[in-house]
Amino acid sequence: MAAAQTEDRPTFDIFVIGGGVNGCGIARDAAGRGFSVMLAEMGDLASGTSSAATKLVHGGLRYLEYYEFRLVREALAEREILWAAAPHIIKPLRFVLPYHKGLRPAFVLRTGLFMYDHLGGRKLLPPTRTLDLVRDEAGKPLKPGYSMGFEYSDCWVNDARLVVLCARDAADRGAAILTRTKVTSARREGALWAIEMTDVESGERRMVRAKFLVNAAGPWVDHVIAEALGQNGARNVRLVKGSHIVVKKHYAHDRCYIFQNADNRIIFAIPYEDDFTLIGTTDIDYKDDPAKVAISDEEIDYLCSAASEYFREPVTRDAIVWSYSGVRPLFDDHASAAQEATRDYVLRLEHPEGAPGLLDVFGGKLTTHRRLSEDAVEKIETVIGKRGKPWTKGAKLPGGDFAPTDFAGEVTRTAARHLELPRELIQRLVRLYGTKTAVLLGDARTVTDLGEDFGAGLSAREVDYLIEHEWARSAEDILWRRTKLGLHGADREKLENYLRTKAVGGER
Ligand code: FAD
Repeated sequence: MAAAQTEDRPTFDIFVIGGGVNGCGIARDAAGRGFSVMLAEMGDLASGTSSAATKLVHGGLRYLEYYEFRLVREALAEREILWAAAPHIIKPLRFVLPYHKGLRPAFVLRTGLFMYDHLGGRKLLPPTRTLDLVRDEAGKPLKPGYSMGFEYSDCWVNDARLVVLCARDAADRGAAILTRTKVTSARREGALWAIEMTDVESGERRMVRAKFLVNAAGPWVDHVIAEALGQNGARNVRLVKGSHIVVKKHYAHDRCYIFQNADNRIIFAIPYEDDFTLIGTTDIDYKDDPAKVAISDEEIDYLCSAASEYFREPVTRDAIVWSYSGVRPLFDDHASAAQEATRDYVLRLEHPEGAPGLLDVFGGKLTTHRRLSEDAVEKIETVIGKRGKPWTKGAKLPGGDFAPTDFAGEVTRTAARHLELPRELIQRLVRLYGTKTAVLLGDARTVTDLGEDFGAGLSAREVDYLIEHEWARSAEDILWRRTKLGLHGADREKLENYLRTKAVGGER
């Protein structure tokens, strides 16, 4: 969708600040309805909160305790909608909840899980069952005292890739996606916004106009309101830090654990990237710069000891191979404890008479990003006019055009076209790129055809694909967001040298 020209400055229908899951989801939905859209992200896509999640597409069992029925119902329904849209990056998981004497009584857990199963939207995911942890394999990694448990369904998502696929789909539908581009100022001029951006690599400044502005800056949403928009106002978001540790694979089976802690919180232990276990998260009020968020010693101790309360083999610091932290931009509902603050989203529409509209996005989850985006675009349409209908329910994300239960079939079909490539490489690529693996591999027959080898299965051909199709520019983008090959020992220095030859830059 081409933007109109006004005084040499292009004018878009909608300008989105922020390339996280919410900004990219809104850009995708709006572009698909026929609006001209520009999105600016000051870092890499998903470099904010959207790559630092627990990576669950879930109803949020614990939110039932806070009576967040609307959120849970909507999120439960989204699980199978998102799984069908992106069966390469989303997969079902079974969660084992060991019953812990002295914490929530068994009848409370049963009631919660009954509601979870029946609130709606579950067609393919299997229902809850009771487990005898003395006999079931899931009991083996646990201390002997845990004899009963429950097992229920949710889904796992590759969070950073979900964002990139939303951006890719938005761009395929005509949206302009700019990365490493910071919005420094947005001012109302008559019926339009005048938006100034800076390329954070070159320092070059650029101005565009838009009929409508979306502030989807996540943890920076209040900062954008104060700095870029120049408005003083109340604090709208409560920043809540959450950290995860990644340890060497702690148990052999493929199910997750949800552990209740004595402080009334829960943590998850999740099989991760084949060789690891992901453990998290924490909930800590956060006041500093979201870009500087990092795990603290107290959080490491907390996660190790909470998991060790359940596991036969304690989780110790020396098993940690990686950690990451993110900041939840929760709508400030003045809850007393960070873990109690609502996970629901709030869309605030501002539309002064005769002036262009603004939508601030507060809160939200990966799980509800599609619904949030649909609600957001419907609100925008009340200001700039209707263009299309809701369309994302039932639509595929790039690479996701195969049946949700047919991931193994898609691997087999792809492998059959590339008989000389290792099966485990094909399996990894299909998990990341789905049917787009065909575009990535092209006519490659052998490993040599894939070009320079950066270790851990990363080849020049994959890197080139990520640069050309997925806005990747740095080793960090490639090793820690588009893939997690940093965890598997890919050679960062060699990759940085290669990126220099491609003139997309070295490290940032
Ligand atoms: P972000 O992803 O932070 O995106 C905002 C973007 O705006 C950033 O990339 C930033 O660089 C950019 N930006 C800011 N200012 C500017 C500017 N001036 N110009 C240009 N760009 C700008 N949800 C789930 O559904 N399941 C989970 O399991 C889950 N687990 C979580 C665990 C943790 C620890 C955390 C922190 C969150 C979790 N969430 C989960 C919630 C989910 O990750 C977030 O709600 C979601 O990612 C927020 O996305 P966003 O787009 O609003 O923000």
